[in-house]
Amino acid sequence: MSIQTILTVPNPILRQTCVPVTAFDERLDRLLRDLRDTLADYGPTGVGLSAPQIGILEKVMMMLYRGREIVLINPEILTAEGAQTKTEGCLSCPGATVSVTRAQKIHVQAYTRKGKLIRLVEHGMMARIIQHEMDHLNGILILDKPH
Ligand SMILES: [Zn+2]
Repeated sequence: MSIQTILTVPNPILRQTCVPVTAFDERLDRLLRDLRDTLADYGPTGVGLSAPQIGILEKVMMMLYRGREIVLINPEILTAEGAQTKTEGCLSCPGATVSVTRAQKIHVQAYTRKGKLIRLVEHGMMARIIQHEMDHLNGILILDKPH
């Protein structure tokens, strides 16, 4: 287990743009273990975590929602449809809750931890979590959303 400290605003690392992963190696496995251990430590309030939130500026993110774990590396949204508006929180923005409108359904392309290219279609809450975490990879926080 390696629970990392989650960076919080106004840490400038949270505002950087992440770079793509190029090596699917032991170091990446260790980063994924750190993300999982850190996220699990937050219990049910933690449903997603991105690498920049633990200080690593790479395009890696993990979602953990209702027992389903998804790892996405170098994710890209191919298509987005519909809209959903809900209140979101963020482990990096303690105490903040912001009403955010996001796509209802997304078609995502990403790499697995083994470097295999996959495509997923996600709806509802999982689609929301993925969009939230992808914002982190671009230095965007819920505090930036119109509210
Ligand atoms: Zn967040």
